[in-house]
Amino acid sequence: MKNLVLAKLQALSLSASLPHAWLFVSTDLAHNLQVAKQFSQWLLCTNKQATLACGSCKQCYLFAADSHPDFCIITPAEKHSAILIDEIRTLNEFIPSKPQLADRKIVLLYPAEKMNKQAANALLKNLEEPVTNVLFILLTTHSRLLLKTIVSRCQILPVTNDKCVVGQDIAPLKKILSDLHTLWLTSSVTPVELVEQWVKQWPNEVLYWFELVLTDMILYQYTRNLQLLRYISERDQALLLNSQVPIQRLWSMLDQTRQVQFWLGNGHKPNMQLALENIILH
Ligand SMILES: [Zn+2]
Repeated sequence: MKNLVLAKLQALSLSASLPHAWLFVSTDLAHNLQVAKQFSQWLLCTNKQATLACGSCKQCYLFAADSHPDFCIITPAEKHSAILIDEIRTLNEFIPSKPQLADRKIVLLYPAEKMNKQAANALLKNLEEPVTNVLFILLTTHSRLLLKTIVSRCQILPVTNDKCVVGQDIAPLKKILSDLHTLWLTSSVTPVELVEQWVKQWPNEVLYWFELVLTDMILYQYTRNLQLLRYISERDQALLLNSQVPIQRLWSMLDQTRQVQFWLGNGHKPNMQLALENIILH
């Protein structure tokens, strides 16, 4: 199964700026878990292909048998119970030692909102003092229930279910892409004018679409693989856009976009017009 989010993660993981902690946010925990496990196996696999783990190396066998020594899952013992501090304390042994087989260790924790206060504070200490070669992946369906200090230390990734995206009207995405193209190549419009139109047309979704445009542009710069660009079908535009804008600039825009989404998710009401103008101008 070709999974869009997974493909994006894999492409982003090639970046030097791979975070030490991800927060995968999705309304569908089962799908979120599937993506996180596929991504983890791919990271650990010795003979990984561009988008697939090989499934036949030692790492893959151990992973499939739930016994890879460099992969640690933290989840409540029973479905509806909490994640307690004792479970976070198991990391005190797991984290400091060197990876045994792979080139990194991965901690997968879910559902993150099930951590009680003590557990969350203990995890926060781990996130505050990142260890090289240890990657945290937290899954949540309710990011608002997490400590803000935890969320702010993670790179947030919205994990959409591909099934929901098929057939979705992507007109806003095409419009934003085309507008950015006009802005960056011709300067015949100003960011203020563009943002005004977007916010007026899609007051609640503009950031969502803007983020999809940015992640696809970044993905394309890393992979040069048009097959992965599910959302950008105007291939010529993708080529032009990507040749004009440095990837550091795209990353910076994406980080700022996610920061605004984080504020929104935590009940703040930023001025969308000003926020987007700032993202585009700086
Ligand atoms: Zn493998």
